[in-house]
Amino acid sequence: MDWPQSTCYLNGEWLPLAEAKISVLDRGFIFGDGIYEVVPVYYRRPFRLDHHLARFERSTREIGLANPFDRAGWSAMVDGLIDRCGDQNQFIYWQVTRGVAKRDFAFPAGTPPTVFAMSSPFTRPSREQREQGLRAVTRADERWLRCDIKSVSLLGAVLARQFATEHHADEVVQFRDGSLTEGSSSNMWVVRNGTVIAPPRDRLILEGIRYGFVAELCDRTGTPFEVCRLRQEEVKGCDELMLTSATREILPIVTLDGKPVGSGRPGPVYGKLRAAYDAAIEALRD
Ligand code: PMP
Repeated sequence: MDWPQSTCYLNGEWLPLAEAKISVLDRGFIFGDGIYEVVPVYYRRPFRLDHHLARFERSTREIGLANPFDRAGWSAMVDGLIDRCGDQNQFIYWQVTRGVAKRDFAFPAGTPPTVFAMSSPFTRPSREQREQGLRAVTRADERWLRCDIKSVSLLGAVLARQFATEHHADEVVQFRDGSLTEGSSSNMWVVRNGTVIAPPRDRLILEGIRYGFVAELCDRTGTPFEVCRLRQEEVKGCDELMLTSATREILPIVTLDGKPVGSGRPGPVYGKLRAAYDAAIEALRD
């Protein structure tokens, strides 16, 4: 699929991506005033769509943004995108902004939201990424204090990921006041003595849809799971480190700031969770 020719949805119309245009006064463009979602699709079935819709509803509520569709409406939109893209595995992106209005910080009255959605072919993490693992670097978390909102204001994530790129790494591991938060666009998982540990679901991290999923996979595989704050020294001295996100699924991090994490190879807990993750995806096949 040539991406500019792919069909997207914009404000009630289906049209080629290259022809989709919005006003320069859109508050998403001017202020980053909007909410987005990314949903993976396997074998043409959206994975955990209800969870994504619940998170989207919560984020829109938190910023007082009108949600233009109910769950059935979003679900129909997602089906329309899946059909038009056609690939077996896709990732769906949508965003809703507070619409087009005269530039003024306070919410405009009576302005309809801008609704945009597209789907792209999704290439699952490569064998090399799964078997060799990723490199990460530590960084102070300099984002705002509402990281639980899936906002399109992503400058903090952009700067964090650029830092990783400039340090020849795949992701950052961020710390706020010395405690682990998350990656630029992923949740982090530490393994210590066979137990999987994640930071609390508070305002300092985005609760990934894979957060709950990995907790379930721990349950399914008999892996102890704990939620607690972790200091930077504890993360540096852990046995295994992993990240999760819609597009990277679950991947091991094998070096942190250039030093090996644990054995410096993807560990046994990662192996168990990855197998359980793949099994859950395969179960979606007809
Ligand atoms: N944290 C941040 C900051 C993210 O951007 C993402 C990816 N959207 C995640 C965590 C992981 O969320 P999910 O598992 O829903 O992709």
